Amino acid sequence: MSLFGEERLTPWQKEPFAQITSQFQQGKLPHSILMLGEDGVGREDFCEFVAQWMLCAADDKASGACGQCKSCQLFEAETHPDYHKLAVEEGKTQISVAQVRELIEHMQESSHQAGWKLANITNVHALNASSFNALLKTLEEPQPQTLLIIQAEQLQGVPATIKSRAQIRKVGVTDVSMTREWLNQRHKFIEQDMETAIQLFPGAPYKVEAFVEQGEAFKSSEFIFDFADVIQEQQSPMDVADKWLEELPNAIFWCQLMFRDVLFVQQGAGQSEVQLKQQHEAVELIANSISAKGIMLLLNKIIELQRLIKLKSPANLGASWQSLLIFSAQIAKKYKSLAQ
Ligand SMILES: [Zn+2]
Repeated sequence: MSLFGEERLTPWQKEPFAQITSQFQQGKLPHSILMLGEDGVGREDFCEFVAQWMLCAADDKASGACGQCKSCQLFEAETHPDYHKLAVEEGKTQISVAQVRELIEHMQESSHQAGWKLANITNVHALNASSFNALLKTLEEPQPQTLLIIQAEQLQGVPATIKSRAQIRKVGVTDVSMTREWLNQRHKFIEQDMETAIQLFPGAPYKVEAFVEQGEAFKSSEFIFDFADVIQEQQSPMDVADKWLEELPNAIFWCQLMFRDVLFVQQGAGQSEVQLKQQHEAVELIANSISAKGIMLLLNKIIELQRLIKLKSPANLGASWQSLLIFSAQIAKKYKSLAQ
């Protein structure tokens, strides 16, 4: 069953929703809102919730859309004529000028349901220079009873013209206890797994949820202990490389966390200060085996690998991954930690 009312909102979305409803009721809603929120915080869901609520025709909708009226039905069917969502089309990397022009045309037509008209741009960074220029006029000369929601992960990189014309709002986790409360209502996660994931993604509860659900917390442990085996010559680098090849983006992410923790431990950080608490034993072992200089060399290699992933060059990737693990074993011999 889909939810329409306030019960659909997560604890950290209630405050920004209350701000919008109060502005709406006072007739003080701006024509454009720049909605900030990192991926994994439910920003897109939240913007949809706000849009459906604004279009809902029910008299009493203090806590959310009714889910019953014609407008709500059209919205749920993704056919509401007064709602226009702009996202990157499949197979493309940017929002096209044509998409923006279509949106502007719609926004200038009169409302089909005799109410508000809403546009929702899911990612400001997907607009290229010309689609952005096309949008500017709408920002500068808004029609009455129109709201343009522009989403972005962070303020950095948002064009100044948008920052100055839109009201800036944020949907974000202000206290991790909200994340815990929300997850505990939805799941019976093992607490340690949940805490590890919360530390990895403190501002992104949906990422925490996916991470624990997919057993990532458990898998990351297994990977880190495998890595520790490689540098102790208890498993061959090639075997470990093959085993984790399919999970390469994750493995690289874990390597980064692991090396960062290793450097922390070498600087005297205690167990409470590192991110990979459950894997502390392995992290400590690595910290005691390879010097800081060696770890820095490995970190550089990891950054190179990440670049290859971004370039999507799979042929080089497998080979680079194998050579990273071979290199790690060599580094462990050459750059022994002073602790040994
Ligand atoms: Zn409704």
